[in-house]
Amino acid sequence: MRAAVSALDMRRATSLEEALKIIRDEKRMPVAGATDVYVAMNFGTLVPKQFLDIWALDELRTISSRGDTLVIGALTSYTSLIQSQLVADRVPMLVQASRLVGGVQIQNRGTLGGNIANGSPAADGVPVLAAVDAIVVLRSADAERRVSINEYYTGYRQTMMRADELIVAIEISPVEGKQWFRKVGTRAAQAISKVVMAAVRAPSPRIAFGSVAATVVRARETERVLSSGGSIEDAAETLGRELKPIDDVRSTAEYRRRVSVNLLRRFWADTE
Ligand SMILES: Cc1cc2nc3c(=O)[nH]c(=O)nc-3n(C[C@H](O)[C@H](O)[C@H](O)COP(=O)(O)OP(=O)(O)OC[C@H]3O[C@@H](n4cnc5c(N)ncnc54)[C@H](O)[C@@H]3O)c2cc1C
Repeated sequence: MRAAVSALDMRRATSLEEALKIIRDEKRMPVAGATDVYVAMNFGTLVPKQFLDIWALDELRTISSRGDTLVIGALTSYTSLIQSQLVADRVPMLVQASRLVGGVQIQNRGTLGGNIANGSPAADGVPVLAAVDAIVVLRSADAERRVSINEYYTGYRQTMMRADELIVAIEISPVEGKQWFRKVGTRAAQAISKVVMAAVRAPSPRIAFGSVAATVVRARETERVLSSGGSIEDAAETLGRELKPIDDVRSTAEYRRRVSVNLLRRFWADTE
């Protein structure tokens, strides 16, 4: 069902405190950049409901370091990620991924918090966060809690976030080792990923994939092979067994498996 934006029941929060009280008391659905929400409404997969516009909450738009932890506010746009020297120094593959999200308009409006909360297994920012073991900071009117991004998803578009919570920030500890990111889609820009991979080459490599399962996944068995000194051929064979992609409108399971294995080999060669 298509819905005119002007006809939506939308409140606008002007502070985080106010936003958290409104979603606790009125159970409104937060809207950040609206790049996923409006598409879902247009496709009829999201029935218009009561919304809360959180776009004005500038306090969720900062990129900073606290001790040696990089802290990215949930409302940080891809454009801000691309322009941040701090992010470029600490997590260059997040800049790479951000450059490949949609076009400039989407990069200006789309937020990292929205990419996480939307729960799509094809979200390009999430494999990066999974490969660096990022922490999602969730806050309600009463409390704050931290959840590893690798435990955040409980199923297809299912997350641990409660209806009275907002994602307020993403925390990333220092990343040791070379970072590597690739997105494979129908074309370079404006395409949803068929396979996306983010990885860190360290004594214990960290390897994450998007678009190959119901959620973004870490390739734990493959990581174990490589960290225990196994060859890249052993790792490639393990990955072929470990990943269980699906056929869908964008690609076949077999194509996704083969591309994933090729990406793993490329990662290993590029980061020697
Ligand atoms: C043309 C087009 C191209 C795109 N290309 C890509 C692409 O290449 N790669 C990619 O990964 N994505 C892409 N997207 C999807 C989208 O732009 C991203 O997922 C974006 O990061 C979503 O952020 P948003 O702020 O717009 O989220 P919104 O649409 O505002 O919200 C999405 C979901 O997250 C929830 N939410 C938002 N912020 C919070 C928060 N702080 N706390 C709790 N819940 C929250 C909302 O309630 C909603 O459920 C594209 C979208 C379009 C329309």
